[in-house]
Amino acid sequence: MDRSYGDLHLFIDGEWLGPEGRTTEDVLNPATGEAIAALPHATKADLDHASAAAARAFAEWRKVPAFDRAKLIRKAADLLRERANGIARRMTLEQGKPLAEALQEVFISADIFDYTADEGRRTYGRIVPARMPGVRWMVTKEPVGPVAAFTPWNFPAVIPARKISAALATGCTMVIKPSEETPASVLELARALQDAGLPKGVLNVVYGVPSEVSEHLIAAPEIRKITFTGSTGVGQHLAVLAAKAGVKRATMELGGHAPVLIFDDADVDAAIAVMAGAKYRNAGQVCVSPTRFFVQEAVHDRFVEGFTKAAAAIRTGNGLDDGVTMGPLANDRRVGAMERLVADAVSHGAEIRQGGEALGNRGYFFAPTVLANVPDTARIMIEEPFGPVAVTSSFATFDEAIARANRLPFGLAAYAFTRSTRIAADLGDALEAGMVGINNPFINMPETPFGGVKQSGYGSEGGTEGMDAYLVTKTISQS
Ligand code: NAD
Repeated sequence: MDRSYGDLHLFIDGEWLGPEGRTTEDVLNPATGEAIAALPHATKADLDHASAAAARAFAEWRKVPAFDRAKLIRKAADLLRERANGIARRMTLEQGKPLAEALQEVFISADIFDYTADEGRRTYGRIVPARMPGVRWMVTKEPVGPVAAFTPWNFPAVIPARKISAALATGCTMVIKPSEETPASVLELARALQDAGLPKGVLNVVYGVPSEVSEHLIAAPEIRKITFTGSTGVGQHLAVLAAKAGVKRATMELGGHAPVLIFDDADVDAAIAVMAGAKYRNAGQVCVSPTRFFVQEAVHDRFVEGFTKAAAAIRTGNGLDDGVTMGPLANDRRVGAMERLVADAVSHGAEIRQGGEALGNRGYFFAPTVLANVPDTARIMIEEPFGPVAVTSSFATFDEAIARANRLPFGLAAYAFTRSTRIAADLGDALEAGMVGINNPFINMPETPFGGVKQSGYGSEGGTEGMDAYLVTKTISQS
């Protein structure tokens, strides 16, 4: 076993707990398929300890002034920046993304900590004019309580950073179960917070069998809210558990299948450059990844040609190697899924313009792929690929493009390119998505709300809206 990745622990009530007396699971390096560490699984007693610690810590943490909570979270952000190189290396080893992308993810996580810490100081209430003399109506915001969070393997630092910072900044505490496939990145966030002075029990990190941990934690009486990022299927299951466990609040950040509408008046070269960068980032394992490219007839072939060149220029390899611009997929499930979706698209008449196959004989590599003229009946036009595959199809009119963009039950991100301000304004209204990028990809920043409509989930993270997820509203009528 390559030991350079480092050891793994659970983090419960301020203590780092190792594998002693616990079952373990191997963490694999997706670039080689080899084990790099053994991850301890929490026992039921560990989970109960974590929820009890979160409940005990909540009683004190909620009383800490928002100003002081913000200072602590900002200090942790500075520690993340100081430690960025080491954290990024661990992330690349466990997740596969190129080191430069991993480094960027650590810096964005630190930015999220900073923004959210300060936003926590602005959770204002309201005074409402009362109908009766001598009465004051006050609306206040309070932290919801201990939160159970479940996060996936594609952004092992940024997704947890959003949830942890918003919970902590508003005075909540948390038990988080990140993905067992990418466990070190969150532990680094927890270590930075601990080193910044976080009191014991405010944040707890546990691992285990996902279905068992989620069932146990969601049912725990101390837990008041759940937040999940992952697939729509799992989200639906967890939302039911939360409802059954006592109508617990939930935030669901689920799958998408982002359409990209390229109109014939667009700057096609700019669209290719921007969208190829966005498509192959993190090997396409991004819930807002641009995927279904609907291109107006007059520019379809030109777009496909340019996009194919951009895909061919990507250097795939071990994310730790210099010059690599796309790493392996994070696990072997994704390689199998890509193979099945590409074969199905071809059987429906799609043309492979680039890639289309797994690469190498070790690790989980799949070539940057472009499929052209893919019919809407192909599975990949319906099911999120969550991998490095772009699919194109041409359209004739605005109404046709909108109808095809909106036809799926998902609505997370959508993109469009046009030089017409009239079309841009109509697009902003017509696209059914939580986030719409028109002529740019900047839909996912700490300052702006992130979230979906339809089966892409409910609730927002980021922006002022992201704080609301962790707050409850109280009306006080005082005389
Ligand atoms: P999956 O649906 O089994 O798991 C998705 C995530 O949920 C993983 O992180 C997993 O650990 C977690 N999970 C699974 N069952 C759980 C349970 N009962 N309780 C708590 N957590 C649970 O599939 P997968 O193979 O890991 O990923 C495949 C699909 O998931 C992708 O195609 C994509 O649609 C979706 N996904 C979405 C995101 C996102 O950012 N929205 C991230 C990762 C995966």
